[in-house]
Amino acid sequence: MTATAGDWLKRIRDLPLTGPVKIMNVCGGHERSISAAGIRGVLPSEIELVPGPGCPVCICPEEDVYEAIHLALEEDVTLVTFGDMLRVPVNVSRRDVRSLEQAKAAGADIRPIASPTEAIEIARGNPDRDVVFFAAGFETTMAPVAAAFCEGAPDNLYLLLSGRLTWPAVAMLLESGEPGFDALIAPGHVSTVMGPEDWQFVVDDFGLPAAVAGFTSVSLLAAMYSVLRQLLERKRFLDNCYPEVVRPGGNPGARRQLQQVFEVGDATWRGIGTIPDSGYALRPAFAERDSRQRFGEHGGQERKRVGLMPKGCDCAQVVLGKIYPNQCRIYGLACTPRSPIGPCMVSEEGACRIWWAHGIRERDVA
Ligand code: SF4
Repeated sequence: MTATAGDWLKRIRDLPLTGPVKIMNVCGGHERSISAAGIRGVLPSEIELVPGPGCPVCICPEEDVYEAIHLALEEDVTLVTFGDMLRVPVNVSRRDVRSLEQAKAAGADIRPIASPTEAIEIARGNPDRDVVFFAAGFETTMAPVAAAFCEGAPDNLYLLLSGRLTWPAVAMLLESGEPGFDALIAPGHVSTVMGPEDWQFVVDDFGLPAAVAGFTSVSLLAAMYSVLRQLLERKRFLDNCYPEVVRPGGNPGARRQLQQVFEVGDATWRGIGTIPDSGYALRPAFAERDSRQRFGEHGGQERKRVGLMPKGCDCAQVVLGKIYPNQCRIYGLACTPRSPIGPCMVSEEGACRIWWAHGIRERDVA
């Protein structure tokens, strides 16, 4: 008989835990499922679940958003991007255009989309117009973008690329010597594309238990049970608790297309800085699709200041799992979903937005 969420929870509660354990989940979707199901509230008090760097909108460099705003305002283009990105504020004076939403209100042709397919449809439907896809996302977003370009995207579609890989951020945390977690729940969707093997380094190089999880309570609790048991029994392996979808090697076709279209290099993450080998860039064969080549840069070197966050904003700390969302100095005060200061309160995958949406109003600031 298949174990239910209740069964996994009982197994976790029956474990002879003797001290605190921190488990990081590296996926906004995981954080949403955990919060929606109230999993934190039913786990033994020794277990802490720490949301990690799993929101692509949250880590998109501020200067990339600024560039998208000014490209849309200054060029005769249609700019398409995921809806969440429209409300992300940049660090400029309140008198200036501070978001893509404000640029749209000021007359720029900016259209929210829900998937890369919509970007292609908009380009196909407007063959006389240049369409720029401001593509911020992780492997799961970059794979369909790569597929579109391999399979023949319309000639009038360009990319303003802000794509990132997830595992290097976790590697950076582990290499810091103070990762702030004892075990890892690895992202299911990313593993579907790239294969669970992307996370083997957590076990092999750093000796931490890891398990890939899906998005149901059953899969998440099974993964938590796995890593807790590994800790207790002093065993280490990468467990796949999402086997119905995640296969060894991932999706070879998608990986091939990713490799065909993109190369991987160092990249900046908002508020964090440069992470080695963490960013996608178009290969020379696709350079003509690079909006920066077609329209020039719309930011300038003075915008390259990823370390800078808005005053009082602790998004970088939240993204790295160093503090919980409600430990930010301005959570629920200056920063709310209605009036966000940082990207983590904007995106559906941002930990602050998720916590607020699930009713966490108490602040936890010393
Ligand atoms: S409450 Fe706002 S400013 Fe603070 S970390 Fe969250 S999103 Fe950033």
